[in-house]
Amino acid sequence: MGLRFCPLFSGSDGNCCFLEVDNRRYLIDAGFSGKKIEKNLKDLGVDPSSIDLIFLTHEHIDHIRGAGVLSRRYDIKLCTNVATFKAGMSILGKIKDENIVVIGTNKKHKFSLFDLHTMKISHDCAEGMGFVFHTDYGKISLLTDTGVVTNEMKEKIFDSKILYFEANHDVNMLINGPYDYSLKQRILSDVGHISNVTSGNVLSEVVTDKCKKIYLGHLSETNNAENVAYDEVFNILSRENLIKYSSLEVSRRFENSSLTEIK
Ligand SMILES: [Zn+2]
Ligand SMILES: [Zn+2]
Repeated sequence: MGLRFCPLFSGSDGNCCFLEVDNRRYLIDAGFSGKKIEKNLKDLGVDPSSIDLIFLTHEHIDHIRGAGVLSRRYDIKLCTNVATFKAGMSILGKIKDENIVVIGTNKKHKFSLFDLHTMKISHDCAEGMGFVFHTDYGKISLLTDTGVVTNEMKEKIFDSKILYFEANHDVNMLINGPYDYSLKQRILSDVGHISNVTSGNVLSEVVTDKCKKIYLGHLSETNNAENVAYDEVFNILSRENLIKYSSLEVSRRFENSSLTEIK
Protein backbone atom coordinates (compact mmCIF):
# COMPACT_ATOMS: atom_id res chain seq x y z
CA MET A 1 0.00 0.00 0.00
CA GLY A 2 1.08 3.60 -0.47
CA LEU A 3 1.49 6.03 -3.29
CA ARG A 4 4.03 6.11 -6.12
CA PHE A 5 4.48 8.79 -8.73
CA CYS A 6 6.92 9.10 -11.60
CA PRO A 7 7.08 11.10 -14.84
CA LEU A 8 7.64 8.69 -17.76
CA PHE A 9 8.05 11.37 -20.43
CA SER A 10 8.09 15.12 -20.13
CA GLY A 11 8.71 17.87 -22.66
CA SER A 12 7.35 19.52 -25.79
CA ASP A 13 7.66 16.21 -27.64
CA GLY A 14 5.65 14.05 -25.26
CA ASN A 15 4.16 13.85 -21.79
CA CYS A 16 3.10 10.95 -19.59
CA CYS A 17 3.12 10.45 -15.81
CA PHE A 18 2.58 7.30 -13.76
CA LEU A 19 0.53 7.33 -10.54
CA GLU A 20 -0.17 4.41 -8.24
CA VAL A 21 -2.51 4.69 -5.26
CA ASP A 22 -2.58 1.49 -3.19
CA ASN A 23 -3.24 -1.26 -5.71
CA ARG A 24 -4.56 0.97 -8.51
CA ARG A 25 -2.45 2.32 -11.32
CA TYR A 26 -3.03 5.29 -13.58
CA LEU A 27 -1.38 7.34 -16.26
CA ILE A 28 -1.82 11.05 -16.64
CA ASP A 29 -1.55 11.69 -20.40
CA ALA A 30 -0.02 9.24 -22.84
CA GLY A 31 1.77 11.54 -25.26
CA PHE A 32 4.32 9.13 -26.63
CA SER A 33 4.03 5.99 -28.73
CA GLY A 34 2.37 3.06 -26.99
CA LYS A 35 5.60 1.07 -27.39
CA LYS A 36 7.78 3.67 -25.67
CA ILE A 37 5.32 4.08 -22.80
CA GLU A 38 5.21 0.29 -22.38
CA LYS A 39 8.99 0.21 -22.24
CA ASN A 40 9.23 2.88 -19.53
CA LEU A 41 6.50 1.20 -17.51
CA LYS A 42 8.33 -2.12 -17.72
CA ASP A 43 11.59 -0.42 -16.68
CA LEU A 44 9.69 0.84 -13.66
CA GLY A 45 8.53 -2.73 -12.97
CA VAL A 46 4.94 -2.01 -13.96
CA ASP A 47 3.00 -4.32 -16.27
CA PRO A 48 1.18 -2.03 -18.78
CA SER A 49 -1.89 -4.28 -18.59
CA SER A 50 -2.23 -3.35 -14.90
CA ILE A 51 -3.02 0.29 -15.72
CA ASP A 52 -6.65 1.00 -14.77
CA LEU A 53 -7.24 4.31 -16.42
CA ILE A 54 -5.52 7.12 -18.34
CA PHE A 55 -6.45 10.70 -17.45
CA LEU A 56 -6.04 13.10 -20.37
CA THR A 57 -5.36 16.80 -19.83
CA HIS A 58 -6.05 17.95 -23.41
CA GLU A 59 -5.99 16.79 -27.01
CA HIS A 60 -2.57 18.05 -28.16
CA ILE A 61 -0.57 15.23 -29.68
CA ASP A 62 2.21 15.49 -27.09
CA HIS A 63 -0.41 14.41 -24.52
CA ILE A 64 -2.53 11.77 -26.26
CA ARG A 65 -0.38 10.19 -28.98
CA GLY A 66 -0.30 6.70 -27.38
CA ALA A 67 -3.59 6.81 -25.47
CA GLY A 68 -5.81 5.14 -28.07
CA VAL A 69 -3.29 2.38 -28.78
CA LEU A 70 -2.86 1.56 -25.07
CA SER A 71 -6.61 1.63 -24.50
CA ARG A 72 -7.20 -0.87 -27.30
CA ARG A 73 -4.20 -3.07 -26.51
CA TYR A 74 -4.86 -3.43 -22.78
CA ASP A 75 -8.52 -2.49 -22.48
CA ILE A 76 -7.69 0.64 -20.47
CA LYS A 77 -10.26 3.36 -19.74
CA LEU A 78 -9.63 6.92 -20.94
CA CYS A 79 -10.88 9.76 -18.79
CA THR A 80 -11.32 13.39 -19.79
CA ASN A 81 -14.00 15.97 -20.60
CA VAL A 82 -16.35 15.81 -23.60
CA ALA A 83 -14.62 18.63 -25.51
CA THR A 84 -11.25 16.87 -25.29
CA PHE A 85 -12.69 13.53 -26.38
CA LYS A 86 -14.27 15.25 -29.38
CA ALA A 87 -11.21 17.29 -30.32
CA GLY A 88 -8.89 14.30 -29.85
CA MET A 89 -11.03 11.79 -31.73
CA SER A 90 -8.89 11.60 -34.87
CA ILE A 91 -5.69 10.94 -32.88
CA LEU A 92 -7.28 8.63 -30.32
CA GLY A 93 -9.04 6.46 -32.91
CA LYS A 94 -11.86 4.11 -31.99
CA ILE A 95 -12.33 3.73 -28.23
CA LYS A 96 -14.81 1.22 -26.80
CA ASP A 97 -17.82 2.93 -25.25
CA GLU A 98 -17.20 1.27 -21.90
CA ASN A 99 -13.65 2.65 -21.88
CA ILE A 100 -14.80 6.26 -22.17
CA VAL A 101 -15.07 7.98 -18.79
CA VAL A 102 -16.30 11.55 -18.96
CA ILE A 103 -15.47 14.08 -16.27
CA GLY A 104 -16.16 17.80 -16.03
CA THR A 105 -13.83 20.79 -15.90
CA ASN A 106 -13.53 22.77 -12.66
CA LYS A 107 -15.34 19.96 -10.88
CA LYS A 108 -14.74 17.52 -8.02
CA HIS A 109 -14.99 13.85 -8.88
CA LYS A 110 -15.05 10.90 -6.50
CA PHE A 111 -12.94 7.91 -7.45
CA SER A 112 -12.58 4.90 -5.16
CA LEU A 113 -9.15 5.86 -3.80
CA PHE A 114 -9.10 9.64 -4.22
CA ASP A 115 -11.07 12.73 -5.06
CA LEU A 116 -10.02 14.37 -8.29
CA HIS A 117 -10.38 18.13 -8.66
CA THR A 118 -10.02 19.39 -12.22
CA MET A 119 -9.13 22.94 -13.17
CA LYS A 120 -9.40 24.68 -16.51
CA ILE A 121 -6.07 25.63 -18.03
CA SER A 122 -5.57 28.67 -20.25
CA HIS A 123 -4.24 27.02 -23.39
CA ASP A 124 -4.94 26.94 -27.11
CA CYS A 125 -6.88 23.68 -27.04
CA ALA A 126 -10.56 22.71 -26.79
CA GLU A 127 -10.89 22.58 -22.97
CA GLY A 128 -7.69 21.56 -21.22
CA MET A 129 -7.45 20.63 -17.56
CA GLY A 130 -4.98 20.45 -14.72
CA PHE A 131 -5.48 17.75 -12.10
CA VAL A 132 -5.32 17.63 -8.31
CA PHE A 133 -5.57 14.17 -6.74
CA HIS A 134 -6.66 14.26 -3.10
CA THR A 135 -5.45 10.93 -1.72
CA ASP A 136 -5.01 9.49 1.79
CA TYR A 137 -1.29 10.11 1.27
CA GLY A 138 -1.66 13.79 0.44
CA LYS A 139 -2.38 15.99 -2.52
CA ILE A 140 -0.74 15.35 -5.89
CA SER A 141 -1.03 18.27 -8.32
CA LEU A 142 -0.23 18.34 -12.04
CA LEU A 143 -0.31 21.60 -13.93
CA THR A 144 1.26 22.21 -17.33
CA ASP A 145 0.23 23.81 -20.64
CA THR A 146 -1.22 27.03 -19.34
CA GLY A 147 -0.39 30.62 -20.21
CA VAL A 148 -1.90 31.94 -16.99
CA VAL A 149 -1.95 30.62 -13.43
CA THR A 150 -4.92 32.19 -11.66
CA ASN A 151 -5.36 32.59 -7.92
CA GLU A 152 -8.02 29.92 -8.06
CA MET A 153 -5.51 27.50 -9.59
CA LYS A 154 -2.94 28.44 -6.96
CA GLU A 155 -5.47 27.72 -4.22
CA LYS A 156 -6.18 24.32 -5.71
CA ILE A 157 -2.54 23.24 -5.88
CA PHE A 158 -1.51 24.90 -2.60
CA ASP A 159 0.02 22.63 0.04
CA SER A 160 0.59 19.65 -2.28
CA LYS A 161 2.73 16.67 -1.35
CA ILE A 162 3.92 16.24 -4.92
CA LEU A 163 3.87 18.97 -7.57
CA TYR A 164 4.39 18.28 -11.24
CA PHE A 165 4.60 21.78 -12.66
CA GLU A 166 5.51 23.31 -15.97
CA ALA A 167 8.75 25.20 -16.62
CA ASN A 168 8.49 25.39 -20.40
CA HIS A 169 10.92 28.04 -21.51
CA ASP A 170 13.49 30.60 -20.58
CA VAL A 171 12.06 33.88 -21.87
CA ASN A 172 15.41 35.11 -23.27
CA MET A 173 16.18 31.80 -24.97
CA LEU A 174 12.72 31.88 -26.54
CA ILE A 175 12.94 35.49 -27.73
CA ASN A 176 16.45 35.03 -29.15
CA GLY A 177 15.79 31.49 -30.40
CA PRO A 178 14.92 30.11 -33.84
CA TYR A 179 11.10 30.03 -33.59
CA ASP A 180 9.22 32.36 -35.91
CA TYR A 181 7.57 35.44 -34.50
CA SER A 182 4.01 34.09 -34.35
CA LEU A 183 5.03 30.90 -32.55
CA LYS A 184 7.04 32.93 -30.03
CA GLN A 185 3.98 35.11 -29.43
CA ARG A 186 1.78 32.05 -29.00
CA ILE A 187 4.08 30.53 -26.38
CA LEU A 188 4.34 33.82 -24.48
CA SER A 189 0.59 34.51 -24.67
CA ASP A 190 -2.16 33.86 -22.12
CA VAL A 191 -2.94 30.58 -23.88
CA GLY A 192 0.66 29.43 -24.15
CA HIS A 193 3.08 27.97 -21.64
CA ILE A 194 4.64 28.73 -18.25
CA SER A 195 8.16 30.22 -18.29
CA ASN A 196 10.87 29.26 -15.79
CA VAL A 197 10.51 32.52 -13.92
CA THR A 198 6.71 32.28 -13.65
CA SER A 199 7.12 28.67 -12.59
CA GLY A 200 9.43 29.68 -9.74
CA ASN A 201 7.20 32.56 -8.68
CA VAL A 202 4.02 30.46 -8.62
CA LEU A 203 5.78 27.62 -6.83
CA SER A 204 7.02 30.04 -4.19
CA GLU A 205 3.38 30.88 -3.45
CA VAL A 206 2.06 27.32 -3.27
CA VAL A 207 4.90 25.24 -1.77
CA THR A 208 4.62 24.55 1.96
CA ASP A 209 6.50 22.34 4.42
CA LYS A 210 4.23 19.48 3.32
CA CYS A 211 5.80 19.34 -0.13
CA LYS A 212 8.04 16.35 -0.63
CA LYS A 213 8.86 16.65 -4.30
CA ILE A 214 8.66 19.22 -7.08
CA TYR A 215 9.05 18.02 -10.65
CA LEU A 216 9.62 20.66 -13.29
CA GLY A 217 8.03 19.40 -16.48
CA HIS A 218 7.20 20.14 -20.10
CA LEU A 219 10.58 21.77 -20.82
CA SER A 220 10.99 22.99 -24.37
CA GLU A 221 13.73 21.20 -26.31
CA THR A 222 14.65 24.43 -28.07
CA ASN A 223 13.95 27.22 -25.62
CA ASN A 224 15.09 25.78 -22.32
CA ALA A 225 17.84 23.75 -20.73
CA GLU A 226 17.70 21.55 -17.65
CA ASN A 227 20.24 23.56 -15.67
CA VAL A 228 18.64 26.88 -16.67
CA ALA A 229 15.18 25.79 -15.49
CA TYR A 230 16.54 24.20 -12.34
CA ASP A 231 18.70 27.18 -11.35
CA GLU A 232 15.95 29.72 -12.00
CA VAL A 233 13.37 27.91 -9.89
CA PHE A 234 15.88 26.85 -7.25
CA ASN A 235 17.01 30.44 -6.75
CA ILE A 236 13.48 31.76 -6.35
CA LEU A 237 12.51 29.00 -3.91
CA SER A 238 15.69 29.39 -1.85
CA ARG A 239 15.20 33.13 -1.67
CA GLU A 240 11.85 32.41 -0.07
CA ASN A 241 13.49 29.76 2.11
CA LEU A 242 11.21 27.10 0.68
CA ILE A 243 13.63 24.70 -0.92
CA LYS A 244 14.65 23.05 2.34
CA TYR A 245 11.35 21.20 2.58
CA SER A 246 11.28 19.44 -0.73
CA SER A 247 13.53 18.14 -3.43
CA LEU A 248 13.46 19.76 -6.82
CA GLU A 249 13.99 17.80 -10.00
CA VAL A 250 13.82 18.52 -13.70
CA SER A 251 11.89 15.85 -15.62
CA ARG A 252 12.93 15.30 -19.16
CA ARG A 253 13.64 11.67 -19.79
CA PHE A 254 12.55 8.72 -17.71
CA GLU A 255 14.73 7.68 -14.81
CA ASN A 256 13.91 5.09 -12.19
CA SER A 257 15.40 7.40 -9.58
CA SER A 258 12.64 9.91 -10.29
CA LEU A 259 10.09 7.70 -8.55
CA THR A 260 8.58 9.26 -5.43
CA GLU A 261 7.07 6.88 -2.89
CA ILE A 262 4.85 7.87 0.00
CA LYS A 263 3.86 5.29 2.59
ZN1 LIG B 1 -0.72 21.64 -25.22
ZN1 LIG C 1 1.88 20.04 -24.07
